[in-house]
Amino acid sequence: MTPFIPRLDGDAFPTPLGKIVCVGRNYAAHAAELNNPLPDAPLLFIKPATAAVPLDQPLRLPAGQGPVHHELELALLIGREIKEATPAEALATVAGIGLALDLTLRDLQAQLKKEGHPWERAKAFDGAYPVSGFIAARGIDLQDLRLQLWRNGQLQQDGHTGQMLWPAAVLLSEISHCFSLLPGDIVSTGTPAGVGPLVSGDRLELRLGHGEAVDLLRVGTGVV
Ligand code: ZN
Repeated sequence: MTPFIPRLDGDAFPTPLGKIVCVGRNYAAHAAELNNPLPDAPLLFIKPATAAVPLDQPLRLPAGQGPVHHELELALLIGREIKEATPAEALATVAGIGLALDLTLRDLQAQLKKEGHPWERAKAFDGAYPVSGFIAARGIDLQDLRLQLWRNGQLQQDGHTGQMLWPAAVLLSEISHCFSLLPGDIVSTGTPAGVGPLVSGDRLELRLGHGEAVDLLRVGTGVV
């Protein structure tokens, strides 16, 4: 398997993707739709670099393991090492922003949760993290971004990063007190409400914008 190289403003990033740090239940409405209590600290888990695939390529889902849900998320590309950083220091290390799908084998995850087991079997499989190219984060207010997932022409997820329980700066600082973040790592900031299953033949469009507009990024893709 060749290493996954993130793209920033159309160019290959200098370092390959390391790890993807994901945040669970960072939007209250999504936690509620899955009947999950709100955590009192960010719920963190990691996807390996082997989970990443380009979002604009046809998506292949695992077969025979139950429904695969889309979770639309704002992805942050880390540009410099962060360790035990303040929120302001941590925020300054974000090189790029993009969109990703935290694909989840939902029934398997529910089973693992019930048994108190880690979630990797449900979330870390090859192809479990389709991610777009990144655009430079400089000058963009990360808490005033709108993210949308359109599935077969229907608006399925429509979130605003102002709804995050932990804003990006706080999240990154908290993560950096658990483990180092390195250039080429991605932090996936959690999904707004509206998750649901994907099926073969689905056409998806993911959009990212500032405030009410959704004109920063648009990526179309399809499920094989
Ligand atoms: Zn997620």
